[in-house]
Amino acid sequence: MHHTMQMRLLGVRGTLPVHGPEFVRFGGATSCVLLRAGGETIILDAGTGLSGRDWDNFFPEKRCTLLITHSHVDHLMGFPVFPPLFDPTVTCGIYLRTRQERTARAQIEALMSPPLWPVDTGSMGAELSFHDVPPAFSIGPVAVETMESCHPGGSSIYKLSLDGVSVVYATDYEPESDAPEDFCAFARGCTLLLLDAQYTQEEYSHTRGFGHSTIPRSAQIARACGARQTLLIHHDPKRTDSQLLALETAVRTQYANVRFGRGGEEVLL
Ligand SMILES: [Zn+2]
Ligand SMILES: [Zn+2]
Repeated sequence: MHHTMQMRLLGVRGTLPVHGPEFVRFGGATSCVLLRAGGETIILDAGTGLSGRDWDNFFPEKRCTLLITHSHVDHLMGFPVFPPLFDPTVTCGIYLRTRQERTARAQIEALMSPPLWPVDTGSMGAELSFHDVPPAFSIGPVAVETMESCHPGGSSIYKLSLDGVSVVYATDYEPESDAPEDFCAFARGCTLLLLDAQYTQEEYSHTRGFGHSTIPRSAQIARACGARQTLLIHHDPKRTDSQLLALETAVRTQYANVRFGRGGEEVLL
């Protein structure tokens, strides 16, 4: 069967990578989603999910696009060591919104400069192009729309559409209500919604303002915007597999179309 989009969740952990036997089912790698659509390879965020995979023969067309939400380190940590960027035959477009007057390139170079890191972007090898994030643009036949998230320092929410299939990637987002008008209009009726749900309701009493949503709020938003399928992501680093499974079971009694994203899982749309 032909699929319009082929997606693999490479990292769904929030804030900090974790490892150990209690993090096997949902994975410990931070934000990274790989998408193949319309002959394009699109990677959402460059967290540690960019590691641990054989990338050698991954790009038949030697071309990829990185859509980065913001430059908090959990979303950028995989970039300096991403193997394809050391291949001089690869070209890669990198989108990251200019913030605090720092361009995409300046934000990445802030991380990749001594003493924080010994290799700069200019000596990686691949042909890199850096872009600000416009409200709308396209990557080959894939249409991209963006909206600004509510997150300390700002973050971009992306919607990718092709042939009637649409994916919304909304991580590091602290919505102000259970049905935020701007977001619901943006994500209305999408095929797949990937939505931040780092905290429980109880935790939110002391994590308000940190820039993340809660599990019950995000489940409500998924319903309010009519997403056909929703995967909750950016799991808190202290949340174990058994805790996540229990929370997921509780959510699914009320919201049949909502699940928790698992690192490594493939989604065909
Ligand atoms: Zn994050
Ligand atoms: Zn963040």
